[in-house]
Amino acid sequence: MDFHLTEAEQMLQATAREFAKNEIEPVAAAVDRAEVFAMDNFKKLAEVGFTGLAIPAEYGGSGGDIMSLSIVMEEVARACASTCDIVDAHISLCARPILLYGNEEQKKKYLPPLCSGEKVGAFAITEAEAGSDIANIKTTAVRDGDDYVLNGSKLFITNGPACDTIVVFAGIPDLAPRGMTAFIVEADMPGFSRGPQYEKVGMKGATNAELVFDNMRVPAANRLGEEGKGMKICLGTLDEGRIGIACQAVGISQAVLEHCVEYAKERKQFGKPIAENQAIQWMLVDMACQIESARLLMYKAARIMDEGGNPSRAAAMAKLVASDSCMQIAVNGIQILGGYGYMMDSPMQRYFRDAKLTQIYEGTSEVQRMVIARDLLR
Ligand SMILES: Cc1cc2nc3c(=O)[nH]c(=O)nc-3n(C[C@H](O)[C@H](O)[C@H](O)COP(=O)(O)OP(=O)(O)OC[C@H]3O[C@@H](n4cnc5c(N)ncnc54)[C@H](O)[C@@H]3O)c2cc1C
Repeated sequence: MDFHLTEAEQMLQATAREFAKNEIEPVAAAVDRAEVFAMDNFKKLAEVGFTGLAIPAEYGGSGGDIMSLSIVMEEVARACASTCDIVDAHISLCARPILLYGNEEQKKKYLPPLCSGEKVGAFAITEAEAGSDIANIKTTAVRDGDDYVLNGSKLFITNGPACDTIVVFAGIPDLAPRGMTAFIVEADMPGFSRGPQYEKVGMKGATNAELVFDNMRVPAANRLGEEGKGMKICLGTLDEGRIGIACQAVGISQAVLEHCVEYAKERKQFGKPIAENQAIQWMLVDMACQIESARLLMYKAARIMDEGGNPSRAAAMAKLVASDSCMQIAVNGIQILGGYGYMMDSPMQRYFRDAKLTQIYEGTSEVQRMVIARDLLR
């Protein structure tokens, strides 16, 4: 077992760290305050090829595997979790399922503009009655000639206000209850509309909206995979996405730890740096151990994926451990900074608000436990 990154992976990590530190981190607070889709950051990532990671060059991508994508995502999240969130929805939840389940024509048409950052991707499964229970979707796709007619609406969709290309899941009524089917939907087609942008607690630079399909005609050529195979595509995509959320959580946690270490060495109370108190040291140690564990689980899930194995259990474990520990780390981060950590001009409040989402989307922590329990008790 090799716990080290390869030389190429270490170089990619160093490049991504440098890029995120210089280009993304300085604007992270402003992106959070603005609450608009962080298009400038998205374009900057596109310029260096990070919007085309894990997609082969023949489809306009930058190549690399899930491990490379994970390494970059962690570094981006460490600088700005919202920007990482945009990339997760764009690559892991949109470009990757098109690569893995699309036909040649679909890959040639949709992947190059996604990889170049000309188009923004999104993924839409969640509905009013289908949150954790994704099988309960009510959006329908009825075949009519060369098209499917889509009706329904999807809630909370990341990149919703800015997306151009969306992987959407709908049920084919004739095949119910196993009719879930995936489609590639273009946002500029008639019958598509977006609700107003949601106001959120955190991850404010990655914006969200409801997507509405009102008798929207989607060409049959845009069906992703076979009829009735949508659940398999959705679950496979979420396995990858969960590795992405683990990266996000590890990145946020690492940012908290670094900030706390610096602060604890500087801040003096009772005539000495607070870092000299065991109470503070133990919080820092627990953070470091949790981050290391979560990162190793995240690497393990990425490696399983890259080796063609079934990553479900490892991805669920990585997301669960990374996001639950991230929340605890963010809470303790504020504690270590005391009153200063509770002020809006400290980044701690942003880490704390961003951390919470990692326990909710792409399957809550409870859902990850369900996935792991099912595997344990099989
Ligand atoms: C900011 C944000 C971005 C999102 N982005 C997207 C996106 O891009 N695309 C998309 O399709 N969706 C997206 N979602 C939706 C997200 O994946 C869901 O919110 C999430 O899966 C939980 O569903 P729910 O909100 O309906 O909660 P519910 O399913 O109603 O769950 C409520 C609570 O009950 C618990 N619970 C539910 N069932 C069980 C059970 N069987 N056992 C134990 N506990 C249970 C849950 O863990 C949770 O604590 C996003 C959500 C948010 C908040």
